[in-house]
Amino acid sequence: MSARSARRVGVVIPAGGSGTRFGGVVPKQFLRLGRKPILQHAIEAFESSPRIDEIVVVVPAEYMRKAEMLVRRLRATKVSHVVIGGRERQHSVRNGLLSFDVEPEIVLVHDAVRPLVTPSLIAEVVRATERFGAAVVGVRVKDTIKIESGGFFTTTLDRAKLWAVQTPQGFRFDILKRAHVAAQRSALLATDDAALVERLKVPVRVVEGDYRNIKITTEDDIKLAKMLLK
Ligand code: C5P
Repeated sequence: MSARSARRVGVVIPAGGSGTRFGGVVPKQFLRLGRKPILQHAIEAFESSPRIDEIVVVVPAEYMRKAEMLVRRLRATKVSHVVIGGRERQHSVRNGLLSFDVEPEIVLVHDAVRPLVTPSLIAEVVRATERFGAAVVGVRVKDTIKIESGGFFTTTLDRAKLWAVQTPQGFRFDILKRAHVAAQRSALLATDDAALVERLKVPVRVVEGDYRNIKITTEDDIKLAKMLLK
């Protein structure tokens, strides 16, 4: 597709969690990875992508000022709004979807706590979303996955069919909006947006991703991310 006919693409970056699993008080997305806060890595990746037109960042209420100052300092001109998140990730994404200046045709959702997302992965998700309407990054599961109950394993899943799903996740804007409205109506909560779209029976295309696109959850993940950045 030529640059002129390219569709408008927006991104929601949910950074509204208060998850401080390291025992500290600062949410993970505001901790430093190298010289920058984790959230800054994520913002910069999308700001510098030629396929992205508008970015909405979602943060906890008490981090609004800090996030706005970060955006100003970065001169991240694609960031149109920093908005307040909700109780669950899904509520934060919904707030983000409602905040675009210009409703995009395609929207990506990318967790702030995945700072190692690359320009090529972003471009690939946009391309697949343009083609299929919904496209999500995942990597094949390497471990054998079992279901546990009461301290004992009861079932082993077929590894050949299993993927660990990451972000960015891309959707036609109207599809994701519909999925969120339907989820709200039926009080459904999910840990990613693709799960809501699957409920509409819209097929979600797999984009083979990158094991290095890790999610920062523990202190060890920060150490690993530092090594991967080098
Ligand atoms: O911990 P979890 O997997 O839900 O976090 C994924 C992303 O969602 C993180 O970037 C986190 O800041 C964000 N989040 C959010 N609003 C919440 C909970 C999490 O934006 N209420």
